[in-house]
Amino acid sequence: MRAKKVPIRMCIVCRKREEQKKLLRLQVDENEKVVFYQGRGRSFYLCSSCIEKKTYLNKKRTRKIKINLSNLEELLEGVKINVKN
Ligand SMILES: [Zn+2]
Repeated sequence: MRAKKVPIRMCIVCRKREEQKKLLRLQVDENEKVVFYQGRGRSFYLCSSCIEKKTYLNKKRTRKIKINLSNLEELLEGVKINVKN
């Protein structure tokens, strides 16, 4: 039996490769705001440790990324509030 192939994706901040399902899939909308993946268009991934440690706020880390992550913290804070309620 062949090993099941697990889709692997890369976190844009730390460039760590992880299973796709362990990563948070995001995209940039037409207003250049980071939003959760809407099912179409280009997307990118963020790993849980970057979310936890807020590595995406580190300018040195994100300098080379051509995506504006400035509203990401706000987006993720919204998720935490939703989980609590
Ligand atoms: Zn990461």
